[in-house]
Amino acid sequence: MHIWPIPKIEFIPFTEIEESRAVALVTSQPAWEAVGCHLHLPLSWQVDVKEASQAAWDMMSADLVGEVVYAVGGGLAVDAAKYIACQRGLPLVCLPTALSVDAFLTWASGIRQEGCVRYLETKPPDRLLIDFQILASAPASIRAAGICDLLSIATGSWDWRYAEEKGMNPPGMDYIPYADKTAAAILQGALDCAEAAGKGDRDGLKQLLDCLAMEVQLCNQIGHARPEEGSEHYFAYAAENSMGKGLPHGDLVGPGILLIAAEQGQDIQPLRQALEACRIPLGNIPAEVVQATMAQLPHYAHQHDLPFGIAHTLSTVPDQH
Ligand SMILES: [Zn+2]
Repeated sequence: MHIWPIPKIEFIPFTEIEESRAVALVTSQPAWEAVGCHLHLPLSWQVDVKEASQAAWDMMSADLVGEVVYAVGGGLAVDAAKYIACQRGLPLVCLPTALSVDAFLTWASGIRQEGCVRYLETKPPDRLLIDFQILASAPASIRAAGICDLLSIATGSWDWRYAEEKGMNPPGMDYIPYADKTAAAILQGALDCAEAAGKGDRDGLKQLLDCLAMEVQLCNQIGHARPEEGSEHYFAYAAENSMGKGLPHGDLVGPGILLIAAEQGQDIQPLRQALEACRIPLGNIPAEVVQATMAQLPHYAHQHDLPFGIAHTLSTVPDQH
């Protein structure tokens, strides 16, 4: 039994990063094209990550040469880098090119397995290097998309309370009132900074980072992600099957938050406003895919044994009891 910390976070322009060890670089092509010119790293090996599976990561890292792993990019690059660094017993330095997800701060790597997302315990980055100018210059739709992993508190926590009411929380996921209140305060922090973060404003991005860090450590302390991960993420995982790989996390989770919050009877206006302020594309999943995904969600949630939430009970079919 252990509790992981979040990484040490350092604020430094990427141009000033100095490294003497041989660097094994894990990146994605668009990210490297955008920031590679700012970095002066002694590269000994380099890989362009395209998919999130253990088999792919094992295969692409077979010929790795280096003393330290650097992740440059978004969620996919950092998840692969955490896995590879953990497998090789190498230190990991993470350079996000956008605040697009919370994966820079977590100890797990999300992999796609049999039509769902599973999390492998890997390790948090040893150092997380933040250059606000780099983050501000990221494409608008991913720059602050990490807000989705905070706005999902609105729907995830609702599910957590709902499951408790129904006596359906799995062992180890019992409802903790103060943790729910803590999550609600973090959600408020995210709503408050959405507009500034969306614009790429430094203070807005800093607050977004702070909220993500606190959300991640809260989940680390209680041992599960129920305060921030519920039916909106289930929707995203299910929709990804129809949409194929490559759609950013926010494009999937953002619409999921609004759809699920509406089903839960919540006021979706503040959530929509924050998503729009952070330029999350809300129309990238075609209406027919949205409809089909919502219709199959109860079956999907049961099939993949996901923690109980409203997804399990969404139905137009009358109750059998
Ligand atoms: Zn997420």
